[in-house]
Amino acid sequence: MNATTSIIDSEQQEILTALTDTLTRFSTREIEPNIHAWDEAGEFPRSLYLRAAELGLLGMGYPEHLGGSPATWRMRNTVSQQLSRMGGSGGLLASLFTHNIGLPPVLRYGSETLQQQVIPPVLRGEKIAALAITEPSGGSDVAALRCTARRDGSDYIINGEKVFITSGMRADYITVAVRTGEAGSKGSGGISMILVPTDVAGLSRTRLEKMGWWCSDTAHLRFDNVRVPAANLLGDEGAGFKIIMTNFNGERLSMSAMALGFAQACFDEALDWARQRKTFGATLLEHQVIRHKLVDMQMRISSTQAWIDAVTARVDAGDTSADWVAQVCMLKNHASQTMQFCADQAVQILGAMGFMRGTKSERIYREVKVMMIGGGAEEIMKELAARQLGL
Ligand SMILES: Cc1cc2nc3c(=O)[nH]c(=O)nc-3n(C[C@H](O)[C@H](O)[C@H](O)COP(=O)(O)OP(=O)(O)OC[C@H]3O[C@@H](n4cnc5c(N)ncnc54)[C@H](O)[C@@H]3O)c2cc1C
Repeated sequence: MNATTSIIDSEQQEILTALTDTLTRFSTREIEPNIHAWDEAGEFPRSLYLRAAELGLLGMGYPEHLGGSPATWRMRNTVSQQLSRMGGSGGLLASLFTHNIGLPPVLRYGSETLQQQVIPPVLRGEKIAALAITEPSGGSDVAALRCTARRDGSDYIINGEKVFITSGMRADYITVAVRTGEAGSKGSGGISMILVPTDVAGLSRTRLEKMGWWCSDTAHLRFDNVRVPAANLLGDEGAGFKIIMTNFNGERLSMSAMALGFAQACFDEALDWARQRKTFGATLLEHQVIRHKLVDMQMRISSTQAWIDAVTARVDAGDTSADWVAQVCMLKNHASQTMQFCADQAVQILGAMGFMRGTKSERIYREVKVMMIGGGAEEIMKELAARQLGL
C-alpha cells in the first residue's frame, strides 16, 4: 500500500466513523424509543424526513447543486446497515429512503427544469418520492407491464394500475413505468418512465395491509386518464426498460446492506438474551447448543459482510460490468437468506419472548419474506445472475 492510498483510506475511515456516530445518535434518540409505536400505528411521522434531511442522510450521493452531497456506495451502505441493525425496522428504512429508488431516473434522465423542481424539496425532506413498476398482473415480468401512457398534444394520458408501491400513499412524486408502444423483438421495448406528481386529477390510492413493514405505507394506485406534461418523460420514449434495470442494481445493493443489518440486529438481541436468561442453573450462553446457534449466525453474517464489502468496493471503483450485476443479484439472495436464518435462530433463542410484539427479532422475522420478494424475487435474481454470467 503506498502513502496516497493510506491517506485516502484514513480520510474515508474518519468520514465513516463520523457517519456511524451520527447514525447511532439518530437511531438511539429518535428511532429506537418510537419504532414499536410507529409500527403499531402503521406510520411514522412525516417530520422524520425533515430530521433525516437535516442530518444529511437523504442527500447522500446526489449532486450538491440539487441539495445533495457526494457519497460513496460504502457510505450509503453504512446508512442502510447501521439503521437496520439499530432500529430493526425494514418499514422505516423502506419508506424513509424511497427517494433512492424514485429519484435516480429523474436525476439521470429528467430535464434540468424537472430536476430543479423535484429533487431539492425531496432531499430537504419536504416532499416524498416513490417508484411504481409492479402491477396487479405481475412484477417479475417487467417487459409485460400494461399501464399505458398515450401522447396527447403536449401531455401524456396515463391509464392503468400499480400495486405494492412503497410510500405510495404519502408520495408527492411517483416515477411510473408505463407502456408507450408495442413490445420490441426482445420483449423489452415500448416501456417508458414518467414522473407523476400525485396532486393530478384521476389518480386514486388505496392503502394495503401487510405481513410486515407496518410503519411503511404501501399502496395500490389507479390511473384514470391522468394527464401529465410530456416534459415529465424521463429519457427517451421506449428507453424505460433499461432505466428500470439499471435502477434495480442500486436498490438490490441497498437491500443487501439492510438484510445484513437485520441479521446483526437478530444476533445482538439473541446474544443479549442468551447472556441473561437462565435455564437448568446456567445461562443460555453456557449451553453448547445455543453457542453453536450464535456461531452459525455469525458465520453467515461474516460471509455476507465480506461479500458486500467486495461488491461495494467494485462499484465505488466504477465497475458496473455484467459480472458485477451478477454479483449484486447473488448477494441479494445470500444476504436475505442470512437474514432469514438469523431471524429464525434469534426467535428460537428468545423462546416465547421472540414471538412477542416489541422484540426486534419478532418484527424482523415478519419482514424476511419481503426482502426475498421485493426489488426482484429470489428466483428472478438467480435467472438474471445466470444470464449475466453467460451460463
Ligand atoms: C412490501 C412491498 C413493497 C414493495 N414496494 C414496491 C415499490 O415500491 N415499487 C414497485 O414497483 N414494486 C414494489 N413491490 C413489488 C415487488 O417488486 C414485487 O412483488 C416483485 O417484483 C415480485 O413481483 P410479484 O409479486 O408480482 O410476483 P410474480 O412476478 O407474480 O411472481 C410470483 C412468484 O413466482 C416467481 N416467478 C416469477 N416468474 C418466474 C420464472 N420465470 N421462473 C421461476 N419463478 C418465477 C417469483 O420469483 C415469485 O416468487 C413491493 C412489494 C412488497 C411486498
